[in-house]
Amino acid sequence: MKKAIYPGSFDPLTYGHLDIIRRAADIFDNLTVSVLDNHTKTPLFSVEERVNILKEATKDMPNVRVESFSGLLIDYAKEKGYHVSIRGLRAITDFEYELQIAQTNKMLSHGELDTMFLTSDVEFSYLSSSGVKEIASFGGDISQCVPDYVARLVYDKYNIK
Ligand code: ADP
Repeated sequence: MKKAIYPGSFDPLTYGHLDIIRRAADIFDNLTVSVLDNHTKTPLFSVEERVNILKEATKDMPNVRVESFSGLLIDYAKEKGYHVSIRGLRAITDFEYELQIAQTNKMLSHGELDTMFLTSDVEFSYLSSSGVKEIASFGGDISQCVPDYVARLVYDKYNIK
């Protein structure tokens, strides 16, 4: 049984994340999408809200489950028995940061946790959660970036009708 974890902030979930989730779920028997509870960041959505958004978005994907974690990814992965972490690459700017994380995780886990990169579909390569938040905060149109119910929740956070 091949299983993998897709960790991230997902604040909020975008169509770019969803594309990576669908593709990883086609490759692995089981995929766990896990929301990182990162105390060094101030997110727009709580961990519970992000987990609920992801659960709604993946409800038609039977081999995908949604969880959250805090602390080091390698500790969580070891506890749950995951050996592959999925990450998405949009552009060369993602690469340096992602390579560093992947190599650090490999070192800290003594080779137990590998990272597999899926390159972003060109259609979504411009998409980022921070971009979505910035556009929405000014009342801009995010309908091409996130599912409709996510857009509604984002606008609610900014008190935009
Ligand atoms: P992070 O986990 O770095 O705080 P995110 O939650 O935004 O950031 O992203 C989680 C993962 O999804 C990262 O590997 C990121 O590169 C990837 N990702 C983000 N947006 C996209 C996108 N539009 N297309 C493909 N991958 C993406």
